[in-house]
Amino acid sequence: MKKTFVTLPQLQDIVERYPTPFHLYDEAGIRANVRALRAAFAWNPGYKEYFAVKATPTPGILNILKEEGCGLDCSSLTELMLAERCGVTGENIMFSANDVPAREFAKAHELGAIINLDDYTDVDFLKETIGTIPETISCRFNPGGTFTLGASNEGFQVMDNPGQAKYGMTRPQLTQAFQRLKEMGAKRFGIHAFLASNTLSNDYYPALARILFQTAVELHQETGCHIAFINLSGGVGIPYLPDQTPNDIAVIGEGVRRAYEEVLVPAGMGDVALCTELGRFMLGPYGCLVTRATHFKHIYKEYVGVDACAANLMRPAMYGAYHHITVIGKETAPCDHMYDVVGGLCENNDKFAVDRMLPKIDLGDLLVIHDTGAHGFAMGYQYNGRLRSAELLLRPDGSVKLMRRAETPEDYFATLVFDGGEG
Ligand SMILES: *Cc1c(COP(=O)(O)O)cnc(C)c1O
Repeated sequence: MKKTFVTLPQLQDIVERYPTPFHLYDEAGIRANVRALRAAFAWNPGYKEYFAVKATPTPGILNILKEEGCGLDCSSLTELMLAERCGVTGENIMFSANDVPAREFAKAHELGAIINLDDYTDVDFLKETIGTIPETISCRFNPGGTFTLGASNEGFQVMDNPGQAKYGMTRPQLTQAFQRLKEMGAKRFGIHAFLASNTLSNDYYPALARILFQTAVELHQETGCHIAFINLSGGVGIPYLPDQTPNDIAVIGEGVRRAYEEVLVPAGMGDVALCTELGRFMLGPYGCLVTRATHFKHIYKEYVGVDACAANLMRPAMYGAYHHITVIGKETAPCDHMYDVVGGLCENNDKFAVDRMLPKIDLGDLLVIHDTGAHGFAMGYQYNGRLRSAELLLRPDGSVKLMRRAETPEDYFATLVFDGGEG
């Protein structure tokens, strides 16, 4: 059964100061999880996690991760600026983007970030943009085809479609890019790939690592380039459903170590540093969306209207994603009522849950929507003039810190140009 990291008395106290809806994050859970990740890869002296900023672009969170020894993975100008404002610069930033505007390469270079090139044409574009090729450079690999793991009678444990993905270079392009970058002065090379998203399997990283390690050995032989780091990127998932088994990061780290010892070490490449760019795994379970039941409606189905909507959490509307819901204070009550839990957008997909069995809900009940810590608030928008919520941090001592205030109508109007305005 899924448990909330916050209790009813704590929430009753919080909602007196901060109106619902809001996203709440669990500092103790975040720190314990980073430490488990770092312990799992402690066998690799150069190991570093570059947290994928896009998952939770909130300074209060980024600072915790920085304190725990993480760098940041940025993909846009504003994410780079955010890293800079958090005091993260130099090779503590990985810049992984595609379709990159010139000024973003320029900013990444100005900050001394490690640049991860998405395409072969980026080699010349980068040179033209910043006038040089950095000594440390990375390239993103896309092996094409389909990526599958653990075929069984029940289907595939993990399956994704790199051949349909817009990211990365083909294998021959990778060789060409390394050769050309070397000619242009690059000295330390990295390889990156992201082959499957939200994987619930301890085998994903080890399988990906084996592919990248083998590719690194080949590239070293073909080009003589010094492969300094290999980036396993993101994709380690979390159990959104209550009956799913979480990944075991210690087992994952051990699986990657075995691949390292079997492929890289015999090739004389036992000095390669590993990095990861996890987002969902780092934050997903350690954030929740707190909302209040404000309306009931009985038509062809039973609806509970809440004060949050898809503008606060898009995943259910966008992907049909499951997010577990706890009616706080009724954890032990029987789930004998079936509801659709809906927000107020004029869009029929604005439903946090459909046909969900829950305890009987009363007006004013607080609902905790689980696992919104990554790709939750971050994907928010302002459709229908609904505004983004606050983000709060639950500290290990039980106190609460505001990390981002809720938007106000003034924020919404700030970018609008009315008749009689300038221009
Ligand atoms: C989104 C993204 C990540 C993080 O993915 P998760 O699924 O949240 O782990 C890492 N690297 C890159 C380049 C990404 O675009």
